[in-house]
Amino acid sequence: MINKEVIDKVKKVVEDSNKIVLITHMSPDGDAIGSSCALGLFLKKLGKTVNIITPDDHPEYLSWVPGIDLVSSYSSKRLRLNELIKAADLIFFLDHNVELRQGFLEPIVKKNSCTKIMIDHHPFPKANVDFCFSRTDVTSTCEMVYNFIKDIYGTNDISSDIATSIYVGINTDTGGLNYNSSNPETYVVVADLLSKGINKMDIHERLYNTFSENRLRLVGYCLHEEMIVLNECSSAIICLSKSIQDKYNFQNGDSEGLVNIPHQIKGIDISILITEKEDRVKLSFRSKGSIPINKFAERFFDGGGHTNAAGGMKKTSLEDTVEIIKKNLPDFMNEYKMNEK
Ligand code: 5GP
Ligand code: MN
Repeated sequence: MINKEVIDKVKKVVEDSNKIVLITHMSPDGDAIGSSCALGLFLKKLGKTVNIITPDDHPEYLSWVPGIDLVSSYSSKRLRLNELIKAADLIFFLDHNVELRQGFLEPIVKKNSCTKIMIDHHPFPKANVDFCFSRTDVTSTCEMVYNFIKDIYGTNDISSDIATSIYVGINTDTGGLNYNSSNPETYVVVADLLSKGINKMDIHERLYNTFSENRLRLVGYCLHEEMIVLNECSSAIICLSKSIQDKYNFQNGDSEGLVNIPHQIKGIDISILITEKEDRVKLSFRSKGSIPINKFAERFFDGGGHTNAAGGMKKTSLEDTVEIIKKNLPDFMNEYKMNEK
């Protein structure tokens, strides 16, 4: 529960603001889009002018989320978005803990000295903000947005649209209420969202069963041909090269969930997806239990994230990236096992 003094201050800041901008992290996922759309719709209900700006495009499978028409991607309409950021009198940072994750937006946002509020659930928040709402024991930024609205305004004005957007991030950040979702509080929130009229089955259908045939064949190909299993360090690596992406007409979002699949193999505790980009590779890491894969991402790939889900980037080839992992993962696992003793 946010304390009374902070509630009053934030309420006043919101009351005194009119042009509000909400910013997400690069490659916005279900939680980034869900949380910004939910809060955006709520602020609109309060009579504010709201713009949600993502550093790059959101994947197509999120294009139905209520509030998505408030979202603009910085990969287009840059001049207009620069103006919007410049003119904002309040900026929210959602679903990211460091400004670096804002990509090209970072320097523009920094230039505006207006009030900034961060709502996020990643460990070690470090950003220049006036109010930082950070909890790492919560499923998602969406759940935090629900709590933020509840503590400050109560839940009466959470419409079924807002509830739907909130549920999107709770669902996607937990793999459908699978991992990181053992806190009973989450289900109290979900119960309230259901009572607001969300259609849970329909949301699930839209999130998980709207992929293209190409995407399913791509996943099949990757598992059959591109998965390296390193039994000695309980790990699997999947490489998604540019040529394979081209072959299967890869679209933004097509690799969603792919990194989780190797966890279905008995004994695989770490799974890594390496996606080849124009001039770099993007890595997705998943781990089981207490293996802090965010530390590995941070140490070798300038990345970070949560204990069990992290990411990073590097300007290396696919082959060299695999070599870096093969070279350093055994020591990392030994270090982890030593610490566990
Ligand atoms: P994903 O694999 O779904 O892209 O990312 C999983 C998690 O890792 C995200 O929720 C985010 O916390 C973190 N993450 C992904 N990419 C990066 C990155 O480049 N830098 C940092 N610091 N964290 C990342
Ligand atoms: Mn999140």
